[in-house]
This record gives sequence, C-alpha cells and structure tokens, in this order.
Amino acid sequence: MSAVNEVADRQIVRPSGLAEEVYRRIRADIMSLKLPPDTRVSVDSLARELGVSQTPIREALSMLEANGLVSKKHFTGYATAPRMDRAQLDELFEFRLLVEPHAARKAAEAMAESDIGSLASGEGAPSHDGFADMDTEFHKLIAQGGGNHLIADSLARLHIHVHIFRSCFRSEIAEEAVHEHDAVIKAIRARDGAAAESAMRRHIERSYGRLRDFIE
Ligand SMILES: [Zn+2]
Repeated sequence: MSAVNEVADRQIVRPSGLAEEVYRRIRADIMSLKLPPDTRVSVDSLARELGVSQTPIREALSMLEANGLVSKKHFTGYATAPRMDRAQLDELFEFRLLVEPHAARKAAEAMAESDIGSLASGEGAPSHDGFADMDTEFHKLIAQGGGNHLIADSLARLHIHVHIFRSCFRSEIAEEAVHEHDAVIKAIRARDGAAAESAMRRHIERSYGRLRDFIE
C-alpha cells in the first residue's frame, strides 16, 4: 500500500483539461500540415491565437514533445518535427518488418482474451488524426499482447504513426489498412500464429508501398 502511494506521489500531475484541449488543437494542426514540418512554434502567438495564457500552451508543448511531434530548440523555443525522409522511411519499415510480424504471431499465441476484444481495425474513424490514433492503439496492443516488453517499448518509442500520418493524407490509406487490420484480428482471434504473422507482414509491406511514392 505504501509503495503504491509512493509511486502516486512521484507521478506528474495530470495536465488540466485546458492544456489537453490545446494539445489536441496543435496536434491536429501538425498532423494536417497546417503547421508544417520543421517550423518554429511560438508560445506567444499560440497563446494569442487560442486566447489562453502561456501556461497551458507550455504544458501542451511538453505533451507534444513527449509524443515526438515537436522538439525543444535552444534559444528559439519549440519547432515541429522535420518530415521523415526516404532513408528514415526505409529504416523504419525494415525494423517494423523484422519485429511486428513476429509480435503478431506471439500475440495470437499469448494475448489475453479481454485484450483481443479491444482490438479495433480503425473502421469508422472520425478523421485523419482519429484514424492515426486507432492505428497507433492497434499496433500497440498487438506488440504488448506478445508479452515482450522490449519489443513493445521500442516500437512505442519510434512514434511510428505520428510520422507516417503526417506524411500522407490519402483517404484510401485508412480504407485499405482497415481491411488488412481485420485480417490480423481474425487470425489472432483464431489463435493462428502463422496466419497472424503473415497478415501483419502483408499489412506492413502494403503500408510501406503506399507511403514510398510520397516520400522522396
Ligand atoms: Zn496499421
């Protein structure tokens, strides 16, 4: 009991509702490229634009920094993350292809029934960044479902979906991905490791193909 309290004492205070609202607004602007990559983000002008004080803006920027969408620059404040280049895309997908099909196989074998129940393909996502969130959750649950924390953590640290969805806006991306996700979910539900592995490989290969044309 005391150990639990100690942990709670050390946790960062949950940001206020206002900071979360500001976070969502800026995040949507970054994902839709209204705020382009590698662009300075001014606390002052955001505060003026959104009609709030600097405090929630700074809290929101810290949250965005934790998610890889902005970075702190010396002297100049914050800037949006640069766009992924072709070499980074190639590295990212090489890594995903090594890790995620294997994770899907393990998830089919080991994932708890309750977690399988929360797998959603992303169908009916309300928006571009809404689908990005659902896709993030889908891949995160499967990586965790395999039970290897190193795999789950290293995938989470890459902020894969943030970078991918900022790079490309075709609505077909979501439609095609939903079908591929469904095949993975079906295989995991059937506890068919080999089918889950190949369905995930197919999904990642196809995602790669869909993005390659957009990134030089
Ligand atoms: Zn996906």
